[in-house]
Amino acid sequence: MALVGAALKLFLSLLLWLNSLTSSQGKENLWEYRYPFIRRASSFSSSSSSTSSNGPEKSYDYIIVGGGTAGCPLATTLSQNYSVLLLERGGAPFANVNVSFMQNFHISLADTSPKSASQTFISTDGVFNSRARVLGGGTCINAGFYTRASTSYVSKAGWDSKLVNESYPWIEKQIVHRPDLAPWQSAFRDSLLEVGVSPFNGFTYDHIYGTKIGGTIFDRFGRRHTAAELLASANPEKLNVIIHATVQKIVFDTTGKKPKAVGVIFKDENGNQHHAILSKRWRSEIIVSCGAIGSPQLLLLSGIGPKADLKKLNISVVFDNKFVGKGMSDNPLNTVFVPTKKPVKQSLIQAVGITKKGVYIEASSGFGQSLDSIRCNHGLVSAEIGQLSTIPPKRRTQEAIIAYRRSKRHLPHEAFRGGFIIEKIAYPLSTGQLSLLNTNVDDNPSVTFNYFSHPYDLQRCVDGIRVVEKIVSSRHFTNYTQCDKKTLENLLNMSVQANVNLIPKHTNDTQSLEQWCRDTVVTIWHYHGGCHVGKVVSPNYKVHGVHRLRVIDGSTFRESPGTNPQGTVMMMGRYMGVKILRQRLGKSSDATSRNWLDIKRMEYQHFHSLVSMYYKYLSCKLSPFGVSFMLEYLYYG
Ligand SMILES: Cc1cc2nc3c(=O)[nH]c(=O)nc-3n(C[C@H](O)[C@H](O)[C@H](O)COP(=O)(O)OP(=O)(O)OC[C@H]3O[C@@H](n4cnc5c(N)ncnc54)[C@H](O)[C@@H]3O)c2cc1C
Repeated sequence: MALVGAALKLFLSLLLWLNSLTSSQGKENLWEYRYPFIRRASSFSSSSSSTSSNGPEKSYDYIIVGGGTAGCPLATTLSQNYSVLLLERGGAPFANVNVSFMQNFHISLADTSPKSASQTFISTDGVFNSRARVLGGGTCINAGFYTRASTSYVSKAGWDSKLVNESYPWIEKQIVHRPDLAPWQSAFRDSLLEVGVSPFNGFTYDHIYGTKIGGTIFDRFGRRHTAAELLASANPEKLNVIIHATVQKIVFDTTGKKPKAVGVIFKDENGNQHHAILSKRWRSEIIVSCGAIGSPQLLLLSGIGPKADLKKLNISVVFDNKFVGKGMSDNPLNTVFVPTKKPVKQSLIQAVGITKKGVYIEASSGFGQSLDSIRCNHGLVSAEIGQLSTIPPKRRTQEAIIAYRRSKRHLPHEAFRGGFIIEKIAYPLSTGQLSLLNTNVDDNPSVTFNYFSHPYDLQRCVDGIRVVEKIVSSRHFTNYTQCDKKTLENLLNMSVQANVNLIPKHTNDTQSLEQWCRDTVVTIWHYHGGCHVGKVVSPNYKVHGVHRLRVIDGSTFRESPGTNPQGTVMMMGRYMGVKILRQRLGKSSDATSRNWLDIKRMEYQHFHSLVSMYYKYLSCKLSPFGVSFMLEYLYYG
């Protein structure tokens, strides 16, 4: 008994000690214990900051702009040996219910408020699209499907395959899961095999012809694990992550032969400007990882791009490069909505068919099943094309959509039953461009993808629809949906009638599959390009024409890797981090050697969070704070 009493006393003292630590550190959110190096931009101080007092200037070995899919693993890796400042314009993703739970996938995309983790943009083609605005980037708002690039992609990219094969598992061990197959996905997998998309390759991350089950960043409870979680294995003494820090431009020293990046100017959440300075040490660098929209945009705002365009906006030219913003591609997506009699479980992508025709077939189901979701304002960017098809075609004006939103809460649940069969064109030959509309970094630039301007892309869309047609009428699929056998024409018609994009519709939409492809094109959000290797950056991702600047993210891709790119973008962050360390320190400095220590530190931090959560729970029971505690507890599990 005395022993139990002593143990209890010890435990309570530990809790009190932890609590005193809590108050003294002033941490408000539990994730702050796990990621003590994440701070708001307004707390950043440098001697040139408009809000800080004078003091010695702090400089960094690496300044990474954009804490997204590539930026987080890159910062984590470089922090093993060097001081790293990671600047992200969005907030933290932890304990944000729209980010954390799969069921809120579409709610996050439909949230067009300035604080949303997703920023909507509409390409000049008339297609709604989204870009991430949150620490963790695209991995916080995406559909979670995880796969690797093909071996031929890796060799074409000129990557060292050994390091690639070490970098993928580094990601996979930390945040990737094997999915519990939803019924819609099982039926879809069986139908793919029935219609000849074979062999069945089982569960694999590899990109191989046939049908497979891939990985996912959602765990079995539907909780999302993002690139931001990779920061937990960073060296906390060398990493500074600043959120709500929007970088407005890169600063160059232009006194030498070649301009040299020396720092960045960013604004904080209150609109105050700060200046972050790069260390003068040899090989220190600024690395831009702002994604396929953000990276070319930031280069242009900083004076790297086509001279004539920059001059029009009074931007001083640092380096004239006509290729910045060129070669923008987006893989066109066309979907067929299949209604079902019974409600179907929600699922995002789990099974895929990789055809030899250069078309990938994927599926999702059960959007908008919950009452909350039905009431949510999905706006124009709704992924739920099925629901909009319940509005008579002639009334699908902007006003009608507003009225639809209002009346949506009265729609019968039946209208929300069903799912999508999706076809994506691999490696589109149609390309477009990006240009600035103004010098405000918060505004989207103008982006054009020219979907289906190349006849080969159109031909593959038609080929893909033929496969989709076979799937929806296959025995396995109709057995599952238990619907009256709809003709493909009925289903195509539903898609045309839905307000999926701003492209004018044609009367021959269901007679001509080419026209149907053009008129119902949407995005699978795998847009890439704008800073191509060989045109804007070297094979080592160094920006042409200047010193000490690289771009590492999806903007450097000519083609999107695998069926879905996030795995390879994260891999690239890790891969380039290790490569840079090796170039700087020699191979003996292998970053992976510190993994054991990292894991121990993570375990300690995790234990620390759980104990303090428990203590807070005891002290506040289920007060309003208690509710938020529960949410965070659910998140950390
Ligand atoms: C809705 C959606 C669904 C998707 N589904 C999948 C899927 O299921 N599977 C898959 O593999 N891929 C999917 N993708 C694609 C994948 O998520 C992206 O290709 C990938 O995340 C891009 O990574 P990135 O590092 O290039 O850019 P991002 O991850 O977008 O990172 C860029 C970061 O830079 C920040 N930033 C931009 N400008 C600035 C600035 N000026 N200052 C500071 N910070 C800045 C942004 O806020 C962002 O966090 C999806 C994408 C979306 C949007």
